[in-house]
Amino acid sequence: MTDLPQTENCENDFTSALSNVFGFHGFRDNQEDIVRAIMSRRDVFAVMPTGGGKSLCYQLPAHLLEGTCVVISPLISLMKDQVDAAQVNGLAAEFLNSSLDASDRTRVSRAMSAGKLDLLYVAPERFASPGFLGVLKTIPISMFAVDEAHCISEWGHDFRPDYLSLSQIVSEFPGVPVAAFTATATARVQDDIIARLVLRDPHLTRASFNRPNLSYQVTPKGDVDDQILNFLADHKDQAGIVYRTTRKAVEATAAELVRNGVNARPYHAGLEDEIRHANQEAFNRDDITVIVATVAFGMGIDKSNVRFVIHADLPKNMEGYYQETGRAGRDGEPAHCVLYYSRGDIPKIRFFINQIEDDAQRASATGKLNDMVNFATVNVCRRSQILGYFGQALDEDGCTGCDVCSGEVDKIDATREAQIVMSAMMRTGQRFGAVHIVDVVIGANTQRIRDLKHDELKTYGAGSDHDKNYWRGILDDLTAQGCLVRTDGEYPVLNLTPLGREVLFGRREFQVLRRQEAPAAPKRKRAASRKAKQVKQKITDFDRALFEKLRAVRRALAQERNLAPFIIFSDRTLREMAHHMPTTPSEMRKITGVGDQKLLQYGGDFIQAIESHNDRF
Ligand code: ADP
Ligand code: ZN
Repeated sequence: MTDLPQTENCENDFTSALSNVFGFHGFRDNQEDIVRAIMSRRDVFAVMPTGGGKSLCYQLPAHLLEGTCVVISPLISLMKDQVDAAQVNGLAAEFLNSSLDASDRTRVSRAMSAGKLDLLYVAPERFASPGFLGVLKTIPISMFAVDEAHCISEWGHDFRPDYLSLSQIVSEFPGVPVAAFTATATARVQDDIIARLVLRDPHLTRASFNRPNLSYQVTPKGDVDDQILNFLADHKDQAGIVYRTTRKAVEATAAELVRNGVNARPYHAGLEDEIRHANQEAFNRDDITVIVATVAFGMGIDKSNVRFVIHADLPKNMEGYYQETGRAGRDGEPAHCVLYYSRGDIPKIRFFINQIEDDAQRASATGKLNDMVNFATVNVCRRSQILGYFGQALDEDGCTGCDVCSGEVDKIDATREAQIVMSAMMRTGQRFGAVHIVDVVIGANTQRIRDLKHDELKTYGAGSDHDKNYWRGILDDLTAQGCLVRTDGEYPVLNLTPLGREVLFGRREFQVLRRQEAPAAPKRKRAASRKAKQVKQKITDFDRALFEKLRAVRRALAQERNLAPFIIFSDRTLREMAHHMPTTPSEMRKITGVGDQKLLQYGGDFIQAIESHNDRF
């Protein structure tokens, strides 16, 4: 910091490159600090959520610094898109992996050895080869960027032994800064990554897990294909992912959507490689709108304009749910996350959990499933639950959209119902499971009840005004809200917690969430719901017909150049164009995401489309 003039120069470089190269008018949270750290040759460890803008953090220094930035990324399928995206911004970028044919490999190797590249993307296994390290040592290296850095930790959820060879980077290239990025890392995984990569007093960033542009909704599951079709009717032509648990369900739902005229395709590990790949590409390139998939889908997807993610079955845990919903709205535009929840999905997941042999792992998986059920049933803002799960509190801006906060669900007082089931539990000595308790409450005439003389209890039949499902739901709600616990073991029984006793003895109320019946009574409005509306309004203020035309231009350009459409411009950029309607290059250049190169290459086509749209009157 002694050399002030140089720092000032640096600042100018930052902002002008941000605008000229990337077409951005400001940094997103944390980006600037990270870029600064790297520019001062400091190591970086950054946890940033999907869509947070990690690539800019190393692409900007890669552009400004002398030498080549080596990016290590585990996903070969993503490298082409990442390299395309850098190239259209005018950076000299290439990737080196097993998918290249011999002539491309020679071309890239030559460019690399000549030190001509700003960015070189490689898979981690390359670091195990001494030949590769040898070449790197002969050229100036600006920095190393380790993407998906959690893959180096055995404590993470996606350990890859290939990553271990990255430990040598620091000793082999002592003067070069290393920046490690990941979207998920608990404190323990973070320490592990830093130790294994041997980062030297790294600049630490833990970005917020909040994704303000995503709205969350949980809806009771009925005929889920019908429900999805209804949702799609309101989201015509928007790109989205429908997650299902099994291959069979994926096939069935995809077929049903296609039968109803939706441009959808399936994706699961049982499909032939070629078909699976083609379906993913079709989705990536906007040739289809909906992909119905198992959780196998997503690792290789970087598409920024996914407008909704539907979970048609209950996810196994919150990590998975967060990661899968995180694929929506990477471009920062509003996107919806809908979970169709049925407690009928719980036993199916339990079945798989019960196959886990290791006791500790099985217990951990069970705990995670309970957290997931909790999320779906409990009477608390969905966003604050997600953030809470990752150890973060909702900041003062509050929730920007979830069904609980926007009043789409009603909170219903169910204290009396809770007291009925809990009293049945007490009177039977807390020795029974849910099935029997429900039988007692509805007054079922079973052999077991007669044998145990439970038909003589005061609560026998006290809940005969509702059916079994209703009471199972109440038991789930009570469990989710911590009033009951289920014992472990082969024959789990339900016990009351101190909190449950408070409710039973009338010292505390018990509320449940119930979605309003359509068409609902006037919705209760609260501050949060008004706020969510404001966010939407700001962005929906654009010419939709023009937006569709611009999308068509984007598709045509993408096809011509063998690029994914979002590489050319994001949905957000097109929406801004459809709002401001720029008709000169300098106006066009002011749109977010339009840098010098993109203006040069594509600006004319979009200006033409806007002009002819305006001329139609
Ligand atoms: P990540 O790798 O963290 O998931 P990306 O690097 O793909 O995220 O960025 C997500 C999206 O945000 C991309 O469409 C990118 O162009 C956009 N973006 C990144 N930084 C900025 C910024 N400073 N201003 C506007 N858009 C940005
Ligand atoms: Zn909320």
